[in-house]
Parts: sequence; C-alpha cells; structure tokens
Amino acid sequence: MTYDLAIIGGGPAGYTAAEVAGKNGLKTVLFEKKALGGVCLNEGCIPTKTLLYSAKLYQSAKDSAKYGLSIENIDFDLSKIIARKNKIVRKLIAGIKAKMAEANVEVVVGEAIGIENGEWRMENEGIGILCNNVVYHAKKLILCSGSEAAIPPIPGLKETDFQTSREVLENKELPESLLIIGGGVIGIEFATFFNTLGTKVTVVEMTDEILGGMDKEIAALLRAELTKKGIEFHLNTKVAAVQNHQIKIEKNGEKQTLEASQILLSAGRRPLIKDLKVNEWMQTENPDIYACGDITGQSMLAHTAVKEAEIAVNHLLGKNEKMSYKAIPGVVYTFPEVAGVGLTEEAAQQSGITYSIKKLPMTYSGRFVAENEMGNGLCKIIEAADGTILGVHLLGNPASELIVIAGIAIEKGMKSDELKAIVFPHPTVGEIIRESL
Ligand SMILES: Cc1cc2nc3c(=O)[nH]c(=O)nc-3n(C[C@H](O)[C@H](O)[C@H](O)COP(=O)(O)OP(=O)(O)OC[C@H]3O[C@@H](n4cnc5c(N)ncnc54)[C@H](O)[C@@H]3O)c2cc1C
Repeated sequence: MTYDLAIIGGGPAGYTAAEVAGKNGLKTVLFEKKALGGVCLNEGCIPTKTLLYSAKLYQSAKDSAKYGLSIENIDFDLSKIIARKNKIVRKLIAGIKAKMAEANVEVVVGEAIGIENGEWRMENEGIGILCNNVVYHAKKLILCSGSEAAIPPIPGLKETDFQTSREVLENKELPESLLIIGGGVIGIEFATFFNTLGTKVTVVEMTDEILGGMDKEIAALLRAELTKKGIEFHLNTKVAAVQNHQIKIEKNGEKQTLEASQILLSAGRRPLIKDLKVNEWMQTENPDIYACGDITGQSMLAHTAVKEAEIAVNHLLGKNEKMSYKAIPGVVYTFPEVAGVGLTEEAAQQSGITYSIKKLPMTYSGRFVAENEMGNGLCKIIEAADGTILGVHLLGNPASELIVIAGIAIEKGMKSDELKAIVFPHPTVGEIIRESL
C-alpha cells in the first residue's frame, strides 16, 4: 500500500504534520520509536514546566507572609512532584493519540529507517521506509526526528556519573548541590527549580552572559535576580575537566576546582541528522522530502516545530505560505519569567540599522506591583526609525503570556502608534507594553 505521506517522529513537528495532513484527506502514516509527543511532551517543555509550577507554588507559599497570609509547615515531597509530572505527561499523550485517531492517521510504533543503508530511496511505489521489518511506501516524506543533548568532549566527562535534562527529570532525591554545565535556557530553568527547592546550585557558562541568544540586558537582570536567590554563576568560564564530583574550571587563565554532589550537563542540543538544509517551504534537497522541527537545527523550539510542520503540509497540499522566523518568541520559565521576540539589542546593533530603545520598569504597572511584592522587572522595546516594532523583551511575570501581544505586532509589521491605538484592559501587566511605546 502507498501512503500519500509518511512522517518520521511523533514530536510537535510530527504530530502536527500528521494531524493537518490527515484532516485534509491525505493518507498518512506516522512512525514513532519511543513515545508520541517527542522530547517536548516526554522530557522537555511539559515535564519541566510541571516541575517548575510545583516549585513556584512552594515559593509562593514561603512568600505568603508578604501578602498578609500565614501558612505553616510548608514542605514538599519530590517523589510526589515527579509522580504528578508523569501523570500530566500520560494525560497529554492520550490527547495526542486521540487527535491522531480523529485525523485518521496510522501510528506505527518503531524505528523507521530508509530501506537501503538508511537512505531514503524513491521506488516506483514511492519512498521506501522500513519499520519493524515491514516496508512502507509514501509519495512524500517529512523528517521530524528531532534532536538530542549535545555531549561536548570534556576530559573525564564520559567516565563521570553526570546527568542530562532527561535523567535529571527523574531524580528521586533532591541533590544537596548541583553543578550545571551550560547557562542556556534549559540549564537556567533547572537551576531555578533546584534552587527553589533548596539545592545549592552553581552554573558554569562559557560565554559572557547566560541565556545566549536572548537580549543581554534582560539576561543580566535575570542573573542578578537569581544571584539574590543564592545561585552562583561563573561566566566566561570553561570546564577543563571533570573527575567524579569535581569540576576543574578555567577563567582568564586562572584555574579553580568546584565540587557538587550532582552534575547536570546542559550544553545545547544537536539535530539527529547533521547539516540538513531546507528551503522556505521546509523541503530538503529532495523536493519529495521535507524536514521540520529540531532536526533542521534552526530554532529548536516546539512552537517553531509546529509552524514549520504546518508550512510543510500546506505546501504539499498546494498552498504557498513561506516559513518566517521574524517573530518566534523565546521564553524562560524562571521566577521571574523572561520572554523576548524579534530583534535583540545586540542583533539590532550588528545589523547596522537605525533603531531606538524604549524601556519602562515593570513597576509602572499597577497590577505588577499588586502581585509582585518587592518584585523587579523590565519592558524593553526596540523600534526602527519609522516606528516599526522590531523587538520586545520582558523580565517579570507573566512575560510568557504577554509576549504573544508583541509577537503579533512584530509578525504583522505594526508600528508603535498602531499598537498604542489598541485598548488594553486595566489593570493588567500587559499595559506595560502599551505604556512603553
Ligand atoms: C528540558 C527541555 C525543555 C524544553 N522546554 C521547551 C519549552 O519550554 N518551550 C519550547 O518551545 N521548547 C522547549 N524545548 C525544546 C522542544 O522540546 C523541542 O524544540 C521540540 O520537542 C522539537 O520538536 P520535534 O518534533 O522537532 O522533535 P522531538 O520532540 O525531539 O520529537 C522527535 C521524535 O522523533 C522520534 N524519532 C527519532 N528518530 C526516529 C526514527 N528513526 N523512527 C521513529 N521515530 C523517531 C523520537 O523518538 C521523538 O519522539 C525543551 C527541550 C528540553 C530538552
């Protein structure tokens, strides 16, 4: 039997592509070797946000006196926090299974490979795919096989009992101290979780600031907030070697040894297939084969994967929408949250365009002050000379929700006065964006 479309990988890219294709009448087969939902649902976005929510409630309970409440005997049980996370994951996987059934997608559990030495070969009946010793044929193929944690060649690391973001999610006991190699988004979210529950957390970052790729001023402000909470940061610092629980670091030629009861390696992710090039419709060099999500190495975010999958399926359905990376929001679910979309100040500087910066402290928002006793934050807007909004960067809750407003404005090419003409409800923290313009 020949399918219209075969999809390899059941993460956000794969299940979105399958749903759109199935609903549009394409005979679709989806191969998944582990669990539907991919990294995002099983060991990424959803598990981490579930754990962070428990930690946030714990922190709120501890801070309750600031709001005139008294809560006694505040405590937590890590095994129950993990069990709840697993329950949420199971529930959401069931939701995806139901979506696949509704869209008439055939889901095959198993590892899919090209029929000849792993190569995707076009045969008379279509592209040949081998899974569980059965050959499937499809007219088109979308590769959505995702990414894995990058393991840098640090001397001694392989012989050490280190964890990546996957294993750390299953910790039954709270480590006394945790050393995180890598101050990117994933590392900093785990730093927040463990710090909030009482672990002594140290972050070692090779570059001069955490959250590479986000606006540096906002990242530095977050780092200051997290430092106040007791997280120790070593910037411009290289991990030279790891031995058991000792980490040898180097900064400006000076050597130091750090110790921690547990090491979390969070040094980025790499696509399962290297150097896959795609065009604006997500087609690879072979026009019958598309690639979406982390596998392309473009943005490594779930919402990008979803959009790319929609673009790819729409293209093979004959529509001509091109993928745009202009307004992909980035969110860091720390306490406080960080979010940004569009150009950072650094990117604006490098591009050589004329721009101006508009900034307001979050405390200009009445709602923010009411809900964040002693809280700090910033709303920073990057505007082109003609008033077009180029970038918005936020520190302060609920940045993860507010960034959608900015994303819409940037995607639609709105100017500041156009966004300012919109009525925002009062009192909301979102008013800060309107007020900053
Ligand atoms: C700790 C962590 C936190 C994260 N938090 C966020 C967040 O808050 N927000 C966000 O946007 N992103 C987040 N991400 C990133 C997000 O998880 C990824 O961008 C997203 O999962 C990419 O989706 P994908 O469909 O491309 O790939 P994946 O989700 O990686 O799915 C790929 C799937 O393909 C399957 N597969 C691979 N090869 C084969 C094969 N040969 N045959 C069959 N199946 C195969 C795999 O088993 C996997 O299920 C996080 C990542 C991590 C690790």
